[in-house]
Amino acid sequence: MKRRHFIHASSLGIMGASLTSLRNLASGPISSERMPVLFIGHGNPMNAIEHNKYSESWQKMGANLPRPKAILCISAHWETPGTKVTAMPKPQTIHDFGGFPKALFDVEYPAPGNPELAEELGKMLHQTGVEKDYEWGLDHGAWSVLKPMFPLADIPIIQLSLDIHKSPREHAELAKELGELRKRGVLILGSGNIVHNLGRINWQAPNSAYDWATEFNNKVKSTIVNRDFDLLCDYKSLAASAMLAVPSTEHYLPLLYATALANENDRIDFFNDEPVMGSLTMTSLKIG
Ligand code: ZN
Repeated sequence: MKRRHFIHASSLGIMGASLTSLRNLASGPISSERMPVLFIGHGNPMNAIEHNKYSESWQKMGANLPRPKAILCISAHWETPGTKVTAMPKPQTIHDFGGFPKALFDVEYPAPGNPELAEELGKMLHQTGVEKDYEWGLDHGAWSVLKPMFPLADIPIIQLSLDIHKSPREHAELAKELGELRKRGVLILGSGNIVHNLGRINWQAPNSAYDWATEFNNKVKSTIVNRDFDLLCDYKSLAASAMLAVPSTEHYLPLLYATALANENDRIDFFNDEPVMGSLTMTSLKIG
């Protein structure tokens, strides 16, 4: 496991670990309409079990979306040499962090996998060459969001890894090949954070943003509003603050998967557009 993926509670700050008893939200009928695409700023893993504005928004999103036939998650927390897809029937819940309360380690998200979809995805991305994986599962980039969103854990999920050898533009090009899945009832969900610099966290101000974080986040948002999605790949050119906002790309890249899948008629809505502890933003997108 790469060091920057090993999230420690002390680097995020635990603010009142009030546990929530998540209601079983009724899911709507299975739909074959074109599915929206989500980019979720996931932030602190404790959002999985805390009742707060972020987990609440994920609950509402899950209740209001057309019920997906399956979910494809691209998480910041799974980087591999080459592109991999989880292909096991029962993915394990991975607790890829340290220093958090036992209650977070006790979380299981027993959603089934979908080996058939993994197989199909491999065929769709034949030019990339996708390796089937039987060892990973669901990391907290996936389950910390999906548990509030779909608490019944009854929708099959696969994860696609981030190839460490690909450039941001190559990730976006790969993502474009996934568009067909939207027509087949698959919810594609990128999970990361637009601004993510754990080394610069401001402990004293939970809802603050450094100027550079605000600048970069706003620049990304205006670029999305202008639908200049290709420019997002050149994130270093967006603002001088890019190097502070995106010190490593893994939390930013899932955004490119979402925006690459936007069609010109898709409505784009921002939500959870808020900073956390100076150097993180929770800004999220619903496309379509
Ligand atoms: Zn993360």
